[in-house]
Amino acid sequence: MVVAYHHEPFTNFGVEKNKQAFKDALAYVNTQLGKHYPLVINGEKIETDEKTISINPANKEEVIGSVSIANQELAEKAMQSALQAFESWKKWKVEHRADILFKAAAIIRRRKHEFSSYLVKESGKPWNEADADTAEAIDFLEYYARQVLEIKNGVAVKSRSGEYNQYHYIPLGVGIIIAPFNFPLAIMAGTAVAAIVTGNTILLKPADATPVIAAKFVEVMEEAGLPNGVLNYIPGKGEVIGDYLVEHPKTRFVSFTGSRAVGCRIYERAAKVQPGQIWLKRVIAEMGGKDTILVDKDADLDKAAASIVQSAFGFSGQKCSACSRAVIHQDIYDKVLEKAIALTKKLSVGAPEDSGTYMGPVIHQASYNKVMNYIEIGKKEGRLLIGGEGNDTSGYFIQPTIFADVDENARLMQEEIFGPVVAFCKARDFDHMMEVANNTDYALTGALWTNNREHLERAREEFHVGNLYFNRGCTGAIVGYQPFGGFNMSGTDSKAGGPDYLILHMQAKTTSETF
Ligand code: NAP
Repeated sequence: MVVAYHHEPFTNFGVEKNKQAFKDALAYVNTQLGKHYPLVINGEKIETDEKTISINPANKEEVIGSVSIANQELAEKAMQSALQAFESWKKWKVEHRADILFKAAAIIRRRKHEFSSYLVKESGKPWNEADADTAEAIDFLEYYARQVLEIKNGVAVKSRSGEYNQYHYIPLGVGIIIAPFNFPLAIMAGTAVAAIVTGNTILLKPADATPVIAAKFVEVMEEAGLPNGVLNYIPGKGEVIGDYLVEHPKTRFVSFTGSRAVGCRIYERAAKVQPGQIWLKRVIAEMGGKDTILVDKDADLDKAAASIVQSAFGFSGQKCSACSRAVIHQDIYDKVLEKAIALTKKLSVGAPEDSGTYMGPVIHQASYNKVMNYIEIGKKEGRLLIGGEGNDTSGYFIQPTIFADVDENARLMQEEIFGPVVAFCKARDFDHMMEVANNTDYALTGALWTNNREHLERAREEFHVGNLYFNRGCTGAIVGYQPFGGFNMSGTDSKAGGPDYLILHMQAKTTSETF
């Protein structure tokens, strides 16, 4: 009997013992920097001439590790390994597959701060954000292991007299898991193990910026007893091996998390049936967001302003759920803006390794350039009230930035920026707030602050987002508590960490016997 699922608690760094433990883990990880990580195909560690160098985005000089890169030939080798492993893995007892996830969760929990320290170093996450990423990875392992046990016998269907009907789920085949940089442990691990525990075998392609943390996770899965060939670790350039694998006739499904542009490209390419392909590929594509916090005139303004600041600037705004639009009722607009600016002034931007840092860098030069470009656009579209400065001398640092009086159709209000920039927009009344809330192509997360029950109920019906929050910020979904995923151009409506997520990695089979 498995104990009930509860999410992994966050570490309280106010407690000296915890703080010291984290410092020790960081010191340990510092001794591990610069190592080389090979590909893992069918359990074989393969070194390649071409390598990617993973650096610390807060300190460009610091190398986290070098990682071998797969070309198309090695991607093909990994595909063959996964196809072969599928033949035995799909027959494993569900309980035994689940046990590997439980063990992996236990291993990561024991080394929690070590994993978080890699996240600090490789992705520039401050302590609390790194801790939450690791906790979420543990949650995915614990939650999906339990979920698969729940669905292992399928769903009861009716049988008439003289007949026995069964309805149960079987695996799909080989899946390509393509992960983003921003939750380089949680999303990478969550999407990988959802596919694995349901009996599929996978090719895992981490983001180019964060391959080392993925390599550490692959080591854990091996230690937890995952057979060779089930998880093939193949870092590589998206445009080199990504297209190749998405188009491969033996690819049965693709589980992608990342930007809208890449997601749409994958969706389109996967749709084309290739010579020798005998199925229609399934695509799970979780993409970008343009997430809004609405503040109604009778809301708790202090809490609302704090939630905007936290949702906009946590991990430098590099969350698909980050608040990048604050739509405020005109009666309280100035007050909320003032409070948000006051809170933003207090935020410390700096090295994520320091315990006092609230906000670290953005992930790389391309991201820095993109965000700084949006800041220039913002200067034309609104009033720059705080921030707007960047410094990419030693790392990719951008000050938390607020623009006011931005038109609801401005680029700043429509396009995903993925950096520490939030646009404030003034709403005439609640009808107008609802209108603006739904006026983008995206529909991932959103929040409403109000004490008006009627408005709350209207938003419940009308605010069209995958994750809707009332009287809180719009980030921080917890596995098993707030299943996560968006509508429209935010994705294919899958809900990671939810009760029906695993089914997306399976196909249902009906068996009817007459006697
Ligand atoms: P990205 O640039 O789209 O990259 C995501 C992954 O796709 C990376 O592994 C990337 O590899 C790979 N890729 C690039 N080109 C490819 C191709 N042609 N074929 C196959 N794969 C390819 O996204 P990101 O910058 O890492 O992440 C940020 C984005 O993810 C944001 O838009 C954010 O909103 C979104 N996101 C969404 C969710 C959600 O649940 N909806 C969660 C987290 C993040 P390389 O790194 O090698 O280019």
